[in-house]
Amino acid sequence: MTSSRPHLSPAGLIVTVAALVLIGTRPARAQGASPVLQLEEIVADSQNFHVVSTLIVGPSEVVLFDTQNRLSDGRRVADRIAATGKRLKAIFISHPDEDHFFGALAIVDRFPGTPIYMTPAAIAEFGRTAEGMRVRGKRGLGAEAPDSLFHPQEYPAGGLAVDGVPLQLLADLQGDVLDPTNSAIWIPSLRAVLAGDIVFNGVHPYLAASTPASRAAWQASLDSLAALHPDIVVAGHKASADLPDTPASLEFMHQYLRDFDAARASATDVREMVSTIRTKYPDLTVGMLLGYSAMKTFRQ
Ligand SMILES: [Zn+2]
Repeated sequence: MTSSRPHLSPAGLIVTVAALVLIGTRPARAQGASPVLQLEEIVADSQNFHVVSTLIVGPSEVVLFDTQNRLSDGRRVADRIAATGKRLKAIFISHPDEDHFFGALAIVDRFPGTPIYMTPAAIAEFGRTAEGMRVRGKRGLGAEAPDSLFHPQEYPAGGLAVDGVPLQLLADLQGDVLDPTNSAIWIPSLRAVLAGDIVFNGVHPYLAASTPASRAAWQASLDSLAALHPDIVVAGHKASADLPDTPASLEFMHQYLRDFDAARASATDVREMVSTIRTKYPDLTVGMLLGYSAMKTFRQ
C-alpha cells in the first residue's frame, strides 16, 4: 500500500493563508506575488522501506523529488502527478540508490521527455553502481524492477524553479551513500528541506554503507541543514505519510548516529548491537535496515 496526502504543516497553512489574503485584496499576478507551492508526499510500504517521493506543486508545474523502489509505486506517483492536472517539468533523484530511482522509467513512460536530473557526482556514482543494482533488483523484485536504466542529466547550472519559484540545490552532502552524493533541495518560500536519505523519520536509518568517518561527516550535513532554520524537513523514508515533517527529525538523526557508534563500541556481536538499538528505539520500523547496518559495521 502507498498513501499520500497534501502537506498540512502549520507553516504551510500559514503561508497559504497569507497568500489568500494577498490574492483577496489585489490581483497576485499584477503585483508580481510569487505563487505558493504545495508539497505532496507518496510513501511506500514497509517492504519498500517506506521510501518517500515528493511532488513540488505550483499553479501549472510539478517537479518530482525521487521516484520509488518498485515500478508499480512509480506508476502510483505518475497517477498522483496526473491527478494534479499540471505539467511534470522535471524529476530530481536525490542520490544513486535503487529505492529512489527504480520507479523512474514508469514515470517517464507516462510523461515522455521529462528530464531526470542528478548532480555530476551522483551521475558518476550511478554510472559505477546502478546497473549492478538493477541486475540484483531483477533477481529480487522481478517485474517490479526496471529492464533498463535511464540516462540522468546534470542538474541545470541555472537552477530549477516551479512556476518561477526557485528551488535551491544542496549538492553532494553526506548521507547514507559512502561517498558524499546525497543531495537535498531547499525551498526558501516554504522554509522546507527535501532531505532524501540524509534524514529518516520513524524508520531505522540505513547505515550499512557508512563508516565512522562518513557518520561524522553526516553529522556535519545535518548541521548544515539545521543552519537553514527550516520549518519543514521531509525525510527520504518515513514510517507513515501522516508523520509530521518537523525539524525534530534532524536532532533524531544526530542522536541515532551517536547511539549507533556507541552501540558498535560496546557490543560484542551483531545481536547485542541490534538489541541495544532496538531497546533505545522501540517505535522505529523496518528493523531489517538495523540488522543489515549492524552486520555490515561488524565486518569493517
Ligand atoms: Zn533510501
